[in-house]
Amino acid sequence: MDYLNMTQEEVQKEIERMQRDLQEQLEKMTPEERAAAEAKAQQAMREDEAEQQRLLDMAAKIAAGEIPTPTKKPNFCGNCGAPAGTGNFCEFCGSPLS
Ligand SMILES: [Zn+2]
Repeated sequence: MDYLNMTQEEVQKEIERMQRDLQEQLEKMTPEERAAAEAKAQQAMREDEAEQQRLLDMAAKIAAGEIPTPTKKPNFCGNCGAPAGTGNFCEFCGSPLS
């Protein structure tokens, strides 16, 4: 399925189709199978929450200055304005790119 080239309407139809499929599968399941599937979905949600909490903790640490944010190299030489290459010095005027 090429989701990138789908219109919003097509995506919506695809989602509805998947929901119908899921509903049919649930109806075919025994109560035990359904309970197992629900437990699995809840487990996945808990893992999602743990991941979100981990990201929030990380953001809090960065905000508190405990983790330095990666420094971004400038795209242009501060001295002559030439596009900065991959090195630590300007290829044109030799100024340090900091
Ligand atoms: Zn330069």
